[in-house]
Amino acid sequence: MLILMRSGATPEQIEAACQAVRDLGLTPHPIPGAMRTAIGITGNRGALEPSLFTRLDGVADAVPVSQPYKLVSREVKPEDTIIEVGPARLGGGSLCVMAGPCSVETRDQVLTTAAYVKAGGATMLRGGAFKPRTSPYEFQGLREEGLELLAEAREATGLPIITEVKDTESLALVARYADVLQVGARNMQNFSLLERLGDLDKPVMLKRGLASTVKEWLMAAEYIVSRGNRRVILCERGIRTFETATRNTLDLGIVPLLRAQTHLPIVVDPSHGTGYAAGVTPMARAAVATGVDGIMIEVHPDPCKALSDGPQALTFAMFDALMVDVRAIAAVMKQRV
Ligand code: PEP
Ligand code: MN
Repeated sequence: MLILMRSGATPEQIEAACQAVRDLGLTPHPIPGAMRTAIGITGNRGALEPSLFTRLDGVADAVPVSQPYKLVSREVKPEDTIIEVGPARLGGGSLCVMAGPCSVETRDQVLTTAAYVKAGGATMLRGGAFKPRTSPYEFQGLREEGLELLAEAREATGLPIITEVKDTESLALVARYADVLQVGARNMQNFSLLERLGDLDKPVMLKRGLASTVKEWLMAAEYIVSRGNRRVILCERGIRTFETATRNTLDLGIVPLLRAQTHLPIVVDPSHGTGYAAGVTPMARAAVATGVDGIMIEVHPDPCKALSDGPQALTFAMFDALMVDVRAIAAVMKQRV
């Protein structure tokens, strides 16, 4: 249920409505909006009687929320969520370009790439230090050393960093370095991890699971938001379908639907979504044309020598060429890059 306060409701009236929710053993989530404050309610198993709240001073209405996800839905919060991370901005008419290597490999590799993507117009540096690999025999990441190299690259370029957190054990360590914590596709429904992320005051980018429906994805986001961390970004990175010619099937058709269902910022990752470098630029262009809030692009100084995801990595020259197109399409979409 959602309590809609009157536009002139006082802080005392809002608190009294929250207390009425607590008195029922439920949790109130006040959501300030441009016109009025709304209060989402979670914890109830069945429907609630609207008059429990409509009789209170300052309450305009109490309406049921039709979706199983509540706090991430547009029904509960009509305005887009805007997330600011240093100079980068997700939502509110900006296009955030997250770029960098799949894995942090060497000091030279990450510093060179960071400087290059910054010069090309990226607003956030990506790089994995804890890598969830399909095979235990593949490169697993530099771990803390990788995080230190990312921090050095941030220092050198001013770019905030996004890096993956693989499990609850390493969360405290990764959170000490990261500006945005990335939850990988393989962890989208790692509920213990999601709960811990919900208790942090740090933005989280939640990648879509390999075979997850939109409903499952938004419910996973709800795990984080319901515990108090409202800064969640969704990232479409391709899903598993019958098609094996591409690494994944990039589901761009989901973007307008997500826009309608949720207020959270949306990012598209055409690198994992296609799996081959020649596919990345066209699908990044297409992603920007859907009006997303950000794109995530893997870039490597020498893709042939990359320790992970070399086939989908763009060279520096390819990244530069992509950015020319991204700027042009973003201008059509009235977005600032
Ligand atoms: C990554 O971003 O490097 C990554 C492992 O992505 P995903 O979880 O989407 O496979
Ligand atoms: Mn990768």
